[in-house]
Amino acid sequence: MYSVKLGEEFKKHGIAIGDRISITDSKGTNEGMLMPRPDVGESDIIIIKRDDGYNIGIKYSKSTKIKKVSGKPAAAPDKKPSAKQQKGLPKVTLLYTGGTIGSRLDYVSGGVKALTKAEELLAEVPELSGIVELDVKQIMSVFSEDMTHAEWKKIAEEVAEAVNNGSKGVIITHGTDTMHYTASALSFMLHNLNVPVVLTGAQRSSDRGSSDAFMNLICAAYAAGHSDIAEVVICMHADSSDNECVLIRGTKARKMHTSRRDAFKAVNNSAIAYVSRKGEIKYMSAYKKHEDVKEKTVAKSSFEPKVELLYLHPNSSPDVLDFLVSKGYKGVILAGTGLGHMSINTKHSEYNWKDSLKKAIDSGMVIGMTSQCLYGRVNPRVYSTARELADLGIIYCEDMLPETAYVKLGFLLANNREEAEKLLAKNIAGEITARTEADWTSDI
Ligand code: GLU
Repeated sequence: MYSVKLGEEFKKHGIAIGDRISITDSKGTNEGMLMPRPDVGESDIIIIKRDDGYNIGIKYSKSTKIKKVSGKPAAAPDKKPSAKQQKGLPKVTLLYTGGTIGSRLDYVSGGVKALTKAEELLAEVPELSGIVELDVKQIMSVFSEDMTHAEWKKIAEEVAEAVNNGSKGVIITHGTDTMHYTASALSFMLHNLNVPVVLTGAQRSSDRGSSDAFMNLICAAYAAGHSDIAEVVICMHADSSDNECVLIRGTKARKMHTSRRDAFKAVNNSAIAYVSRKGEIKYMSAYKKHEDVKEKTVAKSSFEPKVELLYLHPNSSPDVLDFLVSKGYKGVILAGTGLGHMSINTKHSEYNWKDSLKKAIDSGMVIGMTSQCLYGRVNPRVYSTARELADLGIIYCEDMLPETAYVKLGFLLANNREEAEKLLAKNIAGEITARTEADWTSDI
């Protein structure tokens, strides 16, 4: 609720929630749709949704001028599908999990409303009914920053069920923030996978002119229904144009930009393919292909939650590791500096990790080293620091992304404890390449 003072001000100007208003203060003028006030926060801050889709808060004071620009837009009608499902197309399951994709602004409440029914989705993107025969299932509705291994398990099991029931491919609509973690988790969890599993999302919701939701979905449908890929991939805008999407291996993908539509990049790996919005698939590098076998897809979905990912920096304190040991943590992935370094020779004992690392390894903790540089490969054979770290028992994870190594270690500790040390730095789902392939400067 807005404050009584603001309520009166709105009343004076005939302003209601959902109206377009302009607010002028000493910093300038802002225009947008008046949003409902959340229960938390200061009741004197006016929230508006700007045309670029972002909500901003403006502190109200006596000198603030508020004006009604126009009334609220008519409620968006629930659209009916405008295109008929074509017959004979590949059957694809779409698992809806939440996030910006698959939602649109409700002009009455000012909130973002989830699209859950297949018809609603088809109505938003009528082209889909001419690409695949979609079976849409909402399995959850969460922002991806709220996902845990419990959601990964659910998604993995739903994918296995869909595939075993005859789907030729699976699309997973997902929030983008942690999409690469889920993509990694599915890459490790799904065994005997013989179809494309395509995660897609949107950086901008479907009510915005520049939304990437539609093209990403169209390309994902082509990838899921018409490619012979038998891996987990992320499908998002390839560049700033609206021409094509890139398919990135699930274990090699990373969100590299907070807001650009081409935020996802393949790191230390070439893209698997580019998919145009007309359905042309341009394969770029080797991938696991569909084979004519009838093995069931199995979801090995257990995950050890007592694993942490630590980002090392000057002044990092080994107290963090001591704490994790005291709490019974079983694994840690370090995002070290450069080729895989951290402070073990500093004369400032409170920042020297050597003793804590020894104790952690003696307690049975598995510790892996990756690099916060992201691009390139860690190497324990160049500097004496890394040699010492490797001698302590820290496992150097080649060119694996820190997030992927984190997910892999949680997976191994839950499913393959005896072999976790041995498998951490061995490729099992495309997470490690024998030779770093990509020319990174052209990839970012
Ligand atoms: N942060 C939310 C998420 O990752 C919404 C943004 C998005 O979908 O990209 O689910």
